[in-house]
Amino acid sequence: MSLQDSAPHAPRLLVIADVDRLGPIVRDHFAPTPIDGVRDYLSGIAELPRAPTRGVLVGIDPRCARLSSAVTAMRQSARDARLVFCCEPAYESWGRRAVQFGADDYVIFPPPAGELERALRFPARRTREQWVRHTLSPAAPDPLELARLSEVVAAIDAPHHVVLRQMAGLLRDALNARFVSVVADDEVGNAHADGAAPSEDAGPLTSAVLLEPIEASGRRIGQIRVGPPDAAGYDTRHLEKLRHYSVLFGRLLEASTRTHRWRELAYRDDLTGMANRRYLTQFLSETLDRAKRERFAVTTLVFDIDDFKRYNDQYGHDAGDAIIRETAQLFLRCCRKHDLVARYGGDEFVVVFWDADPPRTSGSRHPLEVATVLKRFRSALQSHRFSKLGPDACGCLTISGGLASFPWQAQTVDELLRQADVALLEAKKAGKNSFRIVGGRDACEEPQAAPAASGGVR
Ligand code: GH3
Ligand code: MG
Repeated sequence: MSLQDSAPHAPRLLVIADVDRLGPIVRDHFAPTPIDGVRDYLSGIAELPRAPTRGVLVGIDPRCARLSSAVTAMRQSARDARLVFCCEPAYESWGRRAVQFGADDYVIFPPPAGELERALRFPARRTREQWVRHTLSPAAPDPLELARLSEVVAAIDAPHHVVLRQMAGLLRDALNARFVSVVADDEVGNAHADGAAPSEDAGPLTSAVLLEPIEASGRRIGQIRVGPPDAAGYDTRHLEKLRHYSVLFGRLLEASTRTHRWRELAYRDDLTGMANRRYLTQFLSETLDRAKRERFAVTTLVFDIDDFKRYNDQYGHDAGDAIIRETAQLFLRCCRKHDLVARYGGDEFVVVFWDADPPRTSGSRHPLEVATVLKRFRSALQSHRFSKLGPDACGCLTISGGLASFPWQAQTVDELLRQADVALLEAKKAGKNSFRIVGGRDACEEPQAAPAASGGVR
């Protein structure tokens, strides 16, 4: 039977078995390509030699007793055609067997246009761009979807897995699916119907019944995996919606990647790869706001390499660069994960120590952890062999630093940095190679209840 008016000799697509369900899908995706359909495998084997055929989509024929013979016969009658089987998710093994017996591929019912295009190697009637416009009528997003979409756009600079999770949530609601996983760039976002906390640790959810690729600039960058429907089954409107969102997500993920790249350039120091001054100021301001609300202490350390110019002059600018890089790495290895090490400029760095717990109490002391980190750093520096300096230089390079803490010595970002700088100057004036708290006390000494005004010991 002819599923539509077709040109008599143009290569056609042939649907074999399950024509009532597969016929409309194929027609919808591939019209005006001529499309014919027959109801069982025997009729299909007889039909194939009658007209040139570019692709064959074969559904399940419950009358077929021997799949291997049927596939072999179809293969022989349609040597140049793509032979693709289509089965329900529960019969996927049947599709795999068809491929073993000689079929080119199989797809899961209901096959999205993208899957069919790929399996049949035959372009669908509409390009991906056209799909976005075309699907406006039946698959137009409802107001709730639009609201969710605006949330995704607004959070486009959030970490990738957060964006993916929001996308999965949007699609889960839009398709009324039991779950949706959105996978891109080795990360995954999951959404469940029952509102269970989405865990991405286990990777994308399995037993998906719909798969749709996500493409960006013609490159496949990910995949949407949709679980079974929550209520009634999926129809072509759902498939169109899925495709529609796959195109939107592709573009949004591209934008997200671009945003992260720009952010990286804006906030990283080129030489060390550490946070730069711009990031430091923002981070410090946010951390201080939080510290005021939650009553915890924030300590800022400004440190600077002693006599750095001398190393530059003696070993060259490249060696100076390497010293800056290695010093930054060394400090990073000595402090806690949540502390921030930033390059302030030249040979000067700023470290932000903060700890949300335990809460600050009146009369509480300077954080002990900072002194521990400083001691650790000093001993690491002493034994470090800088790559561009000879072995004799081991232990020669020294650092001076100044510390100021909120809420004791400073209340604002500017004050914190200024007071720490004053303490650094005190350390330099006192002969270098020491860490000072503003007022003169050595930060590596046992802390006092109130900052003492005595000089530090190197
Ligand atoms: P002090 O002990 O007082 O800190 O003396 P110093 O010699 O270290 O003097 P200062 O910190 O004022 O000088 C920093 C020098 O670092 C000045 C500049 O030539 C050099 N410098 C700044 N940025 C870079 C850089 O990116 N690479 C290299 N190799 N040198 C830099
Ligand atoms: Mg210096």
